[in-house]
Amino acid sequence: MYSPKSLRIPALFLIFSFFIVSCSKDYSEMEDLSNAPDDSEIPEQDAPGDDDANDGTSNEETLELEQGFTLDEGKRFAHLELSDTAYNQFLTGNGDMRGVSNKVYEHFTDDFDFIIILSVESSQPENLYYGLTTPAKNDIEGLGRSLWDNTDAFGSNGKLKTVIHMPRTEYIRNGPFLHEILHYWSNHGLIPTTAGGHWGYSSVGGQLGGFDELESLGDDRYRGLVEGSAGFGTVANGGNSVPYANLELYSMGLIGEDELETVTVAENPQPTSEFGVFTADAINSYTAEDIVAENGVRVPSYQNAQTEFDALVVVISKNGVSDEQLETLNFNLENFARNADPDASWGSTYNFWKATFGKATINFEVASEQLK
Ligand SMILES: [Zn+2]
Repeated sequence: MYSPKSLRIPALFLIFSFFIVSCSKDYSEMEDLSNAPDDSEIPEQDAPGDDDANDGTSNEETLELEQGFTLDEGKRFAHLELSDTAYNQFLTGNGDMRGVSNKVYEHFTDDFDFIIILSVESSQPENLYYGLTTPAKNDIEGLGRSLWDNTDAFGSNGKLKTVIHMPRTEYIRNGPFLHEILHYWSNHGLIPTTAGGHWGYSSVGGQLGGFDELESLGDDRYRGLVEGSAGFGTVANGGNSVPYANLELYSMGLIGEDELETVTVAENPQPTSEFGVFTADAINSYTAEDIVAENGVRVPSYQNAQTEFDALVVVISKNGVSDEQLETLNFNLENFARNADPDASWGSTYNFWKATFGKATINFEVASEQLK
């Protein structure tokens, strides 16, 4: 029989699992995480007639860009075959992001905000991050870092925001995909943190960690909770199972400072052996006015901020990829980019539209005019 108490254990485990998911390379002992729902839940690719060569849709064929570099028939991802050496470098954290992006721009126009590189590993490689974001520029003021533009090194003439690498195609659905996208905007000093690049011991409670509720236990001890369950991650909160939080939406330009909520941040936080419980010298509050005063106003403002994003997904492999894996990826990309709730098989997992509360969209489909 299910009771709220019995449900708490897997929920805790879920959150704990993602406690160690980050773009940091510092975590070394983690194997494939149990955050992943059973892949068997994923239904067959729902595109009808994909095995029917005579359905009259002559444009739905894999397009060879050059030898070893193709655009899938569904136009949602490209597939780049690499040498064993080049592929394996991605599994040790030394992948040549710029090599891939420069290859992309030999065949695609400079129209993409994100390039998403996906390795095709069947399990999480040891000693490797779950996702890595390599920014090409910062063109947003008011988020804690200066403006700069290094897009040229990636082969872009100013459009590209960041290149994301994740070692498994499954992470599109399970995370940390939402998390890695958000890294373009946060946390680059918007609020103080002891978990570099993330929200740490703060009340943000979103994709980059933090709690959404705090209990004072006395004696400078506190317990953070997320969605009513004790415990929180300082760098993440359960992959794609949580939406973007208030401060995250602000940083993305999807809400204005008038909607920005006060954030609390623990001063000198120290974890304890009890999950979610920590000690701190103080809990400091940062109002919207404080955050804007510290960082300056966001430019562009949310009225002028970009809300439609284009991404090019590049699957990398050394020996090709099974049709089954590519069909599942295609299904998950379609769901992630859907401007509506994802398929029921996704359960409570968020896609981009849902995670932004319908305020933003992302597109993976390559238009013919985006091909050179
Ligand atoms: Zn991260």
